[in-house]
Amino acid sequence: MRVSVTKIKGFSSDLGISGLRFDFALDSDDLTESAGTNAGGGKIQLMSNYCHFYFPFDIEIPHPDLCAFAAIKIISPYIGSTLTMDKGISQDLASAIKKTYPKIQNINIDEGLRSAASVEKNSSAISFSGGVDSIAVAALLGEDSPLIMMARTLHPEVGAFESWNNPKAQIKTLQYMPYTYKKILVYSDFPYLSTNGKFCLYPDSYAFTIPAVLLSGQLGISDLITGDILAAFTANESIYSSDLESRAKPFFSSIGINLDYPCNGVSELITTKIAKSYGFLEISSACEFGDFQKPCMKCLKCFRKSIYKWALFNEQLSEQEIERFNNSPAVINFANGDERKNLYFMASLKYCFTNIDYKFTGVVGKIRERSMKYNSPFTWVDKKVPDAYKNRSPVINKIIPKLSHFATDMQSWDVAAFKKLDWKKNLL
Ligand SMILES: [Zn+2]
Repeated sequence: MRVSVTKIKGFSSDLGISGLRFDFALDSDDLTESAGTNAGGGKIQLMSNYCHFYFPFDIEIPHPDLCAFAAIKIISPYIGSTLTMDKGISQDLASAIKKTYPKIQNINIDEGLRSAASVEKNSSAISFSGGVDSIAVAALLGEDSPLIMMARTLHPEVGAFESWNNPKAQIKTLQYMPYTYKKILVYSDFPYLSTNGKFCLYPDSYAFTIPAVLLSGQLGISDLITGDILAAFTANESIYSSDLESRAKPFFSSIGINLDYPCNGVSELITTKIAKSYGFLEISSACEFGDFQKPCMKCLKCFRKSIYKWALFNEQLSEQEIERFNNSPAVINFANGDERKNLYFMASLKYCFTNIDYKFTGVVGKIRERSMKYNSPFTWVDKKVPDAYKNRSPVINKIIPKLSHFATDMQSWDVAAFKKLDWKKNLL
C-alpha cells in the first residue's frame, strides 16, 4: 500500500478550517476485501481509496510516524506485505508495525528521523464519543483534558450508509458539555471506507482515536484517554480477568502515547452514577437511533439504560414506556433468547431488578424473571476491581480518589465470587 497525506483547502467552512487527505494506492498484494476485527468474523470491503479529516483550527501535516500510525488504523486489513509512506518513518515505529502487523514487512524508513515517541509531550486528551462512559471519564478528569470528538461526514464517493446514524445528536452532547471544557470537533468520512455492504465497520481497534492521534504532536498529547469499561476488556461482565489492559496499548506507546482508560475496573452502573452526579447524564448520547435528549426507547441499549436509571435513581418508566419496550422487536428477541448480546449484562440486570419494586408483565417481566435466575453472587457489579487500579499512570492515579467516591473496592469475597462465575451457566 502506498500512502500519501496532503493538506487540503477549499471545502465547506461548516466542516472546519483545515483538512488532511489520505490517499491509498494499492500494490499487487493488497486486498479490497478482508476480515474485519469488528465484523464478527464477517467480511469488510474497502469502498474508496481516499478519505478526509477536517479540523476546527489550522493543523500542519503531522509527524510521519503519526501519519503512518493513522494510515494503519484506517486500512490495516487491506495492506499486503508493503507499506510505503510518502515520507519515510522512524526505525522504531517501523519495528513496532512489523511486530504488531506481522504481514507488513517492507516499510520505508527515514534513518535520520527522530521518532514521534521521542518528542516531548506532556498533556492528556479524551477521545470523546458523547456516550455515558466517555462523559464519566470527562467528569473524572476535569477541564484540563480537551474532548476530541470525531463526527461523520458523508464520503463523496461512497455515498449514504447507515442513514439512521445521526452525528448531530452526538455533536450537541459535545456542545452542551460545560463551556470550561476545551472541545475539538473533527469531521471525517473515513468511517465510510470500510463496510460489510450494509453497515460501516471500523477496520481496526481504537480507530475512533485517529483524530486525536493526528493532533497529538501539535497538542502535545502524551495520555490519550478513552471511556472503555470493564466489560470492554472481557467482552462479558460475567467473566473475571486480571488483565484489564488493551492489546493495542504497546502499539500506541510506539508513537509516545499512553492509551489509558480510567473506567476499566468498573461497570456501566458506575459510569452512569458518575455522569448523573456531575449533571451530565441528561446530555449524554443514549443510543444511536435517537436524537439529542430523545433516545428511541425501543432498542436494547435504551432498555438497559432505563432499567439502570430506575434502579439507581428511582427514575421510573411510565406504563406507556414499559408497553413500548414490551412491543419492541429488539426487546422481544432478547426476552426469547434469540438475542444473546445483552445477556453479558445479566449481573447488572439482576442488581437492578432486585432494587426495583414493580410488577412487570409481558416480555419485560420475562427478562426480569430470567435475570433473577442468574445463579451467582452479583454484589460486585457496583464496585471496582482493586487490581485494576494498582500501578497506574500519574494521570489515572490523580482521579482514583474521585472514582472511589462512586465505587468502593470489591472485597475479597466479591472477587472470589466474581472469579468463580461460570458465565455459560448463566445463559438462561
Ligand atoms: Zn435506543
